[in-house]
Amino acid sequence: MTVNLLDFDAEGLTAWFAQQGEKPFRARQVLRWMHQRGEGDFNAMTDIAKSLREKLLAMATVSPAPTISDKLSDDGTRKFLFDVGNRNAVETVFIPEDDRGTLCISSQAGCALECAFCSTGRQGFNRNLSTAEIIGQLWQANRALEQDLPPGKAGERIISNVVLMGMGEPLANFDNLFPALRLMLDDNAYGLSRRRVTVSTSGIVPAMDRLAQACPVALAVSLHAPTDGLRDKLVPINRKYPLAELMSACQRYLVHAPRDFITFEYVMLDGVNDSDADARALLHLVRDVPCKFNLIPFNPFPASGFHRSPADRVRRFASILIDGGIVTTTRRTRGDDIDAACGQLAGKVQDKSRRVLRAAGAAARSADTSAGVELHP
Ligand code: SAH
Ligand code: SF4
Repeated sequence: MTVNLLDFDAEGLTAWFAQQGEKPFRARQVLRWMHQRGEGDFNAMTDIAKSLREKLLAMATVSPAPTISDKLSDDGTRKFLFDVGNRNAVETVFIPEDDRGTLCISSQAGCALECAFCSTGRQGFNRNLSTAEIIGQLWQANRALEQDLPPGKAGERIISNVVLMGMGEPLANFDNLFPALRLMLDDNAYGLSRRRVTVSTSGIVPAMDRLAQACPVALAVSLHAPTDGLRDKLVPINRKYPLAELMSACQRYLVHAPRDFITFEYVMLDGVNDSDADARALLHLVRDVPCKFNLIPFNPFPASGFHRSPADRVRRFASILIDGGIVTTTRRTRGDDIDAACGQLAGKVQDKSRRVLRAAGAAARSADTSAGVELHP
């Protein structure tokens, strides 16, 4: 059986090389080729002994999930759709800004946590992404973006920040996420600082503690409500880990965090969680947690049952938080025209991807199995 080398972080790759009787520095060389230079062809790894290249060709692959589509929005946002098999597709969004380039990546196909306002949650849970499928999004996006660089800028890194804010709950897929995070931070791979990698969670408390120990990157917590009564409805995982526990977990995380604040994400839902009283209740809730707030205009999707708060309501809400001493930003909605905005990364996607896969189905039909069409068995 061939092994996908994108499934390994440095430690895993070294261990696999050792099993093949190869030295650790060889593993490091291959790691650099794959992740620093984006090379997927062992034959092109020219400073590696021919005998090792032949061994790798026989036993291993570098296989990210294949790209289904790659779309550029009017505002420069670029959305990739990747095929993860069995008619599932996940999305990755690149957001260019003046001082940084952020890649928003997915951790699961679907999500089991069923937040009321999230189209990924509405879609249900399909499965966890593997480490190769998680890091493969960065690998693929890097290659695609670097290909488009003008000659003078060849080899420059365009992605400076990674956020786990695409489809899925990253902390519900810890074991596969962890090696991918380590690769993002590894100087022999992507070399990002811990401050430039952000995990966004709906608040799985034990996994937040685990992340603090294993790989304390920047943390964003999806809060969305100031009281347990409302949060139980909007973010059902709150019934298991209510607000008091979540706030304590944030305080514990801060001891290890690379930044001295937690970012609270708060989706602004018209008439649901956006009153002055809600803002004041938030100030009370987070009084002992150094934090910043990021208000997210709700991105509608069909039959969501929610509406976006009017702009003046968002401004008023933000001003109460700011007057209370909390740095508060309002997220600009990007990539609307290609359905790449927060929380739009599903429902339609599932349909779209089915359509795309059906269109591609003729080619794949020979690989039909009783489980359905597999584009890359
Ligand atoms: N599962 C993780 C990360 C993915 S969701 C989490 O929940 O944090 C990334 C962010 O998008 C979260 O803050 C989430 O609440 C928000 N979001 C989900 N649906 C949205 C929508 N329809 N409009 C705006 N933001 C949304
Ligand atoms: Fe899952 Fe996050 Fe969507 Fe909630 S908001 S359903 S945790 S992806």
